[in-house]
Amino acid sequence: MWYFRSPEIVFGEDALEHLETLKGQRAFIVTDAVMLQLGFVELIGYHLRKAGLEYRFFAEVAQEPTLGAVQAGVESLVAFQPDWIIGLGGGSALDAAKAMWILYENPGFDLTNLGPCTDITLRQKARLIAIPTTSGTGSECTWALVLTDPVENRKLGLGSPEALPDIAIIDPILPLKMPPRLTADTGFDVLTHGIEGYTASLYNDFSDGVCLKAIQLVFEYLPRAFKDGCDREAREKMHNAATLAGLGFGNSMAALAHSLGHSFGAIFHVPHGRAVGLFLPYTIQFMARGPLPTRFHEISRFLGLGAGAPAAGAINLVKAIRELATAVGQPLTIREAIDISPEVFEAALDRLAANAEADSVIAMGSRIPTAEEIARLLWYAYEGKEVDF
Ligand SMILES: [Zn+2]
Repeated sequence: MWYFRSPEIVFGEDALEHLETLKGQRAFIVTDAVMLQLGFVELIGYHLRKAGLEYRFFAEVAQEPTLGAVQAGVESLVAFQPDWIIGLGGGSALDAAKAMWILYENPGFDLTNLGPCTDITLRQKARLIAIPTTSGTGSECTWALVLTDPVENRKLGLGSPEALPDIAIIDPILPLKMPPRLTADTGFDVLTHGIEGYTASLYNDFSDGVCLKAIQLVFEYLPRAFKDGCDREAREKMHNAATLAGLGFGNSMAALAHSLGHSFGAIFHVPHGRAVGLFLPYTIQFMARGPLPTRFHEISRFLGLGAGAPAAGAINLVKAIRELATAVGQPLTIREAIDISPEVFEAALDRLAANAEADSVIAMGSRIPTAEEIARLLWYAYEGKEVDF
């Protein structure tokens, strides 16, 4: 027995109007300062007022929210006693909203203990709406949340099926203002979710469909959204792709590119999508050389890249990913991503490898690297070498 979990998804033009149909008294918006500046909090508030809801907001979610930052917002949330919590923003805001929701309903709970089998109760006080303003993390439709441990410079991948948002609103007007760099970074997160979701060991018929569609949409529309942020069709397709890929990997799993990306991104402060996207080609090469069959050639076939034998399919997919990365200015190597000497990088290798190995998604690929292989992969990604082991 298995489950495919999804929030109710409201998408397309004017999707935000769904807020006007909410029943309740009070809504609490969890967001960041940029959303406030862009007028998005006001826009959400406009629709909430039409539903007769009073609202307040907490606009202090930082990039890579920490446990402490989440705690700081909970006090005003508890004082307001909302029946709706609305996460508004990129992955950081949506994850912070999930964390604050858990703490609101389970006072004193230690979030570091949150796991798939943790006994927490939600929906007794409030339900969660996720409104993404970037087209990337898919957090609006997954039960995962990533918080940062600032002392150890480490990402904490947490989650519970209970923490799945009740409603995800995918309104294409919201990502229109993303700058090109953010568009490319988040777009590569979507691509990585789609490819890892399709090839991770928990893949299934339900996640396969949404993963393939998401991958196809990224190849077709990311260059357009990157080139012209006002291309509404491309923005809408990328916004949908992000949610589709989120549904995909949220119901199968992410894998090695995410464990390497989490580790690398946390230590060198590289945005999530840029980090995982950088490692994606190397991890495909690594998996394709492993003893177990892989499914990369099926993706190539679906994209019309000419699949042939599995090995050729993986090679063609890597080539296509690199061409896409180049088209939207994404780095192909660590050296391109950060300004760092070989000596300094080598000094960080042990820590990078240890953190990647400790990241649970590493076990979800078709080939699980040893600590030594992780370090080698990182080194190859630094230099831009083709993986040959
Ligand atoms: Zn991701």
